[in-house]
Amino acid sequence: MTTRHVLVLGGTGEGRELAGRLSERAGVVVTSSLAGRVREPLLPPGRVRIGGFGGAEGLAHWLREHRVDALIDATHPFASVISDNAAAASRATGVPAIILQRPGWREQAGDRWERVPDLATAAAHLPRLGRRAFLTIGRQEVGAFAAVADVWFLVRAVEPPAPPLPPRHEVLLARGPFDLDGELALMREWGIDVVVTKDSGGPATRAKLDAARALGLPVLVAERPPPPLGAAVAESVEAALDWLDRTLGRSQSG
Ligand code: NAP
Repeated sequence: MTTRHVLVLGGTGEGRELAGRLSERAGVVVTSSLAGRVREPLLPPGRVRIGGFGGAEGLAHWLREHRVDALIDATHPFASVISDNAAAASRATGVPAIILQRPGWREQAGDRWERVPDLATAAAHLPRLGRRAFLTIGRQEVGAFAAVADVWFLVRAVEPPAPPLPPRHEVLLARGPFDLDGELALMREWGIDVVVTKDSGGPATRAKLDAARALGLPVLVAERPPPPLGAAVAESVEAALDWLDRTLGRSQSG
């Protein structure tokens, strides 16, 4: 049986799950790629490489050099640079590619969400909605709120957020998943009156939205950047595996 090499661009729970499923398969070698942003990343099963490729060209070179048969971009919905690079590298090399991206969160009855196109808009709207914000947008883009002086922030991230930070804040280092009881207790303890999030989707961090609904709090939800034009998208690990079977089956017989 010919061995097929699959590159998974990871950094997400879905990426780890996919790598785990692929590493159990005979005839498949899986390499997961992580950006190297987190000091102690949760490592997926199979081979792992860490660090940037050097743009779309560097990734295309890597795909050729390591004889990759299929590329699955399982990066976070807000990691748009690497997704654009993956689409460009796939076009340049002819290596078939798909994006594995969980669906965004859906609003439910009782939610008080305001969807905004980006975090800069969220920062502009925030002072209208509250005085004590729970900021759960990861560590890289907290700077979008650096000039918001009349709101106090509880900033939660896996690793210390990158400066500049807003003048009045507390940093809470924690890695999900989070549950409803914990989120309710946290928001009550800190007197939170507004929540800010990206529309990351998925179950691991959605409890904050359920807690906000239970407490009647407004939530600013930053929309996802659109996927690269024309890119194929699978919304679940199962759908990505189906795509892979069709793709590898086709290229094996063709
Ligand atoms: P990004 O802005 O889209 O990418 C910036 C650069 O980081 C890319 O050009 C690439 O460098 C490198 N890179 C990103 N993901 C990579 C990967 N999986 N393997 C190798 N290089 C990678 O990415 P980001 O938003 O900083 O996210 C970085 C990583 O954190 C991603 O793996 C993502 O899945 C994960 N993550 C992001 C978020 C978020 O909210 N953005 C949340 C949770 C997890 P080169 O150009 O040198 O190749």
